[in-house]
Amino acid sequence: MKLRRPLVAGNWKMNGLKASVAEFTRIVEGCDGPLAAEVDLMVCPPATLLSAFVAAAAGSDVAIGGQDCHAKPCGAHTGDIAAEMLADAGARAVIVGHSERRCDHGETDAQVRAKAEAARRAGLVAIVCVGETRAEREAGQALDIVRGQLAGSVPDGATGAGLIVAYEPVWAIGTGLTPTNEDIAEVHAALRAALNARFGSEGEAIRLLYGGSVKAENAGEILAVPDVDGALCGGASLKAEAFLAIARSY
Ligand code: PEP
Repeated sequence: MKLRRPLVAGNWKMNGLKASVAEFTRIVEGCDGPLAAEVDLMVCPPATLLSAFVAAAAGSDVAIGGQDCHAKPCGAHTGDIAAEMLADAGARAVIVGHSERRCDHGETDAQVRAKAEAARRAGLVAIVCVGETRAEREAGQALDIVRGQLAGSVPDGATGAGLIVAYEPVWAIGTGLTPTNEDIAEVHAALRAALNARFGSEGEAIRLLYGGSVKAENAGEILAVPDVDGALCGGASLKAEAFLAIARSY
C-alpha cells in the first residue's frame, strides 16, 4: 500500500460560468468506485462557482477547494475571501501561494504562510505552491528557491492531514513545457527531505503534487516519478475527459 494516497487536483483559475457546472458534473459522474478507490480527486473552481460545485459534488468522492484566501477571518478587505467563508461554502481545501498569486499580487512567503495558517484555523487543507522561474532554473538555483519557499511558506506544526505541497515550476505552467522526469524527481526528493527533516513522521505524510502542463499524454510517466504523490492541473482540468484521463493514469 502507498504511504500517501494519490491526489489529482484541478485548478480552474479564472475560468467558468454557470454553464460550466455541467462539465464539472461529468467529472463527478466519471469518478466512479474503482477510480475513487485509487486516487483522491479535487477541483478548485473560481469563488463564484464554489457553492454550485459543492452542490454538484454532493454525495460523491470529489472534493472542492478554493483558489486563495485572506489571512484574516473577517473584516474590511474588499474583494477578499476568508478561509472560514470557503469552509462555510463547503470547500475542504484551499490553494495558497500559486505562482500567479505570487506574481500578479506580489505575495511573499510570509503572506502565503499566513494564508496557510488561516486555512488550518478554518479546518481547510492548505495546498502550498512552490516553484522556480525559468531564469532561476537556468541559473542552477531551482533547489535553493523551492527549499526557501517551502521553509518560508509552510507553517510550523504542519501535518499530513492539513497540508499538501505542490511543486509547480513557473515556466511549466500553461506553457506545454515540463521538466524532465529526473528534474522533477530531484526537486521532489529535496522537498520530501526538507519536510521530513522539519516535521518528522508527519512530514512523511504530507503529499507532494507536481503541477505544470500535466495532461493525459504525460500524466502516466510524471505520476510514476518517485516522491510524486499526485498532480495539480490547470488547463487539463477544465475538460472532464482530460482530467479523468489524468486521474486514471494511476
Ligand atoms: C496550474 O496553474 O496550477 C497549472 C499547473 O496549470 P497548467 O496545468 O495549465 O500548466
